[in-house]
Amino acid sequence: MAMRKVRELGDDILRKTCKPVKVMTPRTLALIEDMFETMYETNGCGLAASQVGVLKRIVVIDVDGENQYVLINPEILETRDSQTGYEGCLSVPGKRGIVTRPNYVKVKALDETMKEYVLEGTELLARAICHECDHLDGKIYVDLVEGELEDVEADEEE
Ligand code: ZN
Repeated sequence: MAMRKVRELGDDILRKTCKPVKVMTPRTLALIEDMFETMYETNGCGLAASQVGVLKRIVVIDVDGENQYVLINPEILETRDSQTGYEGCLSVPGKRGIVTRPNYVKVKALDETMKEYVLEGTELLARAICHECDHLDGKIYVDLVEGELEDVEADEEE
């Protein structure tokens, strides 16, 4: 496993649309492992492949340090209710902003064995699913921030 460089706001690759994964390869499996390592090393709770410069529809999420999710070609099936709170992004270091998201999300995706599954999330998991799926379409949370982006102390970053 290896850390990968996280692309930051202003890098064109973050605005590109990622392509679906058709087959799993050792190279893509290694990418997924690297994405987890990069996310943990940078204290993130989610990471999309485009953030490490790879335009594939792959997201990794771990919001509680206990449950790792790999979402390949994710498709949001249902959203409900709403939550408003701070959000941050590894591609926008040192900043946070208020974003309203659904409080419940149901998503269909493939896992790393290319088996389809359905994941339901509420609260932080729902927020992370929306945030990371947005990355796959070149969308970044700063576009959704209500009010101003704020500076955040390094030890408080999400
Ligand atoms: Zn992000």
